[in-house]
Amino acid sequence: MEALKQRILKEGKSYSGDILKVDGFINHQIDPELMYQIAREFERRFSDVAYDKIITVEASGIAPAVMLGLLLTKKPVIYVKKRLPSTMEDVLTTTVHSFTKNRDYPLSLSRQFIQPDDKFIFIDDFLAYGHAALGIIDLLSQAKAKLVGVGIVIEKGFQNGGTILREQKNIRVESLAIIKAIEENKIIFSD
Ligand code: 5GP
Repeated sequence: MEALKQRILKEGKSYSGDILKVDGFINHQIDPELMYQIAREFERRFSDVAYDKIITVEASGIAPAVMLGLLLTKKPVIYVKKRLPSTMEDVLTTTVHSFTKNRDYPLSLSRQFIQPDDKFIFIDDFLAYGHAALGIIDLLSQAKAKLVGVGIVIEKGFQNGGTILREQKNIRVESLAIIKAIEENKIIFSD
């Protein structure tokens, strides 16, 4: 997606060659116009995939997921929590590793929003090693629901999450910008 790539080139900052900071339009300040274009592109790419609901992880996946769910497809949006609220009932949990924070954390989801056989699309800001997506697959399978698509705003193609997810059967993976390498602060895209 050209507008996204141009924005990454203009404002993205790389840390230690493998973490990209895009706080000016995705991870802290949100550019709603660009987010809307991102959601439209997801809508287009998943137009031939049958799904019931959208799932994401708090916090940075919520903006593109809500744009996709509310403005375009009218699908419910569920965000998985990174802490377990004491009021949450009938909870499904899994543990994932955070690449950026270098620690494990729990993901929690209430079963009440998942029906067996529900088909989900997972939307997230970044794909690195695929830990978050594999955590979502685990949570959904605990509820006997299915992941049929993964929509990623920025995939870091030099980490192996994309390869792992594309090896899974029956999951469509769509990344709007795939970064091949970050070399001396220069961002190089795959296509
Ligand atoms: P994964 O679970 O695929 O290993 O990593 C994806 C998650 O880690 C995303 O939800 C995102 O929050 C975070 N993440 C991974 N790499 C980056 C990065 O380069 N920049 C930012 N801002 N977040 C990242």
